[in-house]
Amino acid sequence: MKQSAYNARRAPRVAIDGPAGAGKSTVAKRLAERLGFLHVDTGAIYRTVALAAHRAGYAWDDEPNVARVAEALVAERRIAMEKAENGSAMRIVLDGQDVSPFIRTPEMSAGASRVSAIAAVRKALLALQRQAGESGGCVLEGRDIGTVVFPDAEVKLFLTATVAERAKRRFDELVGKGVHTTLDATLTDLVARDKADTERPVAPLKQAEDAILVDSTDRDVDAVIEEMVRVVNARAR
Ligand code: C5P
Repeated sequence: MKQSAYNARRAPRVAIDGPAGAGKSTVAKRLAERLGFLHVDTGAIYRTVALAAHRAGYAWDDEPNVARVAEALVAERRIAMEKAENGSAMRIVLDGQDVSPFIRTPEMSAGASRVSAIAAVRKALLALQRQAGESGGCVLEGRDIGTVVFPDAEVKLFLTATVAERAKRRFDELVGKGVHTTLDATLTDLVARDKADTERPVAPLKQAEDAILVDSTDRDVDAVIEEMVRVVNARAR
């Protein structure tokens, strides 16, 4: 179904939240392609702030300086999300450089989790995320899309899977990218990140009351996409 099917009113915003390794990125990208929507990966924005802070020489728990970095990136338009020429893949640009290859490392996962707990960082990035989704016709993935960024999103999904399955998927993904790690280390990182994301005082990871829970354990991507398309059609038309 293409976006034109929603022409009668603004096309919906589809929020997909959930813990690390639940398959959000793969599913959000494929769902967006299927619907003819824009895919907005908000985790990439937090990862890019972690990278920018690191490049500026600040520790991720240096709250005032990391907050200043995030505020400057937004105010000076030094951070942007663009559609890659080769299709629907989004790339994230920092100071004119496509940093997509640098932000998907275990180090930047940990950095993103740290900087995302800083209230001033979240505040600085809110407008950027809202701009990306304001015209509708988009699939936004993150941790707080349905609760904070777009609490009025037309469709809210909460994607999860067992921790063992999420760790295995993340491990396979990292190995596929040539990152040297172990399943145990991946599991430990994932559990730590889930704990930090769930327990932080500001915009913690949680399922919105009106979000539909989708469990991807033991299911292939196609089955998950089909379920989501059914939900979008039922909720947003
Ligand atoms: O989704 P991804 O694993 O790329 O996100 C990296 C980190 O960024 C998460 O662990 C979380 O701490 C943070 N994040 C967030 N809010 C979002 C998206 C990501 O706090 N909307």
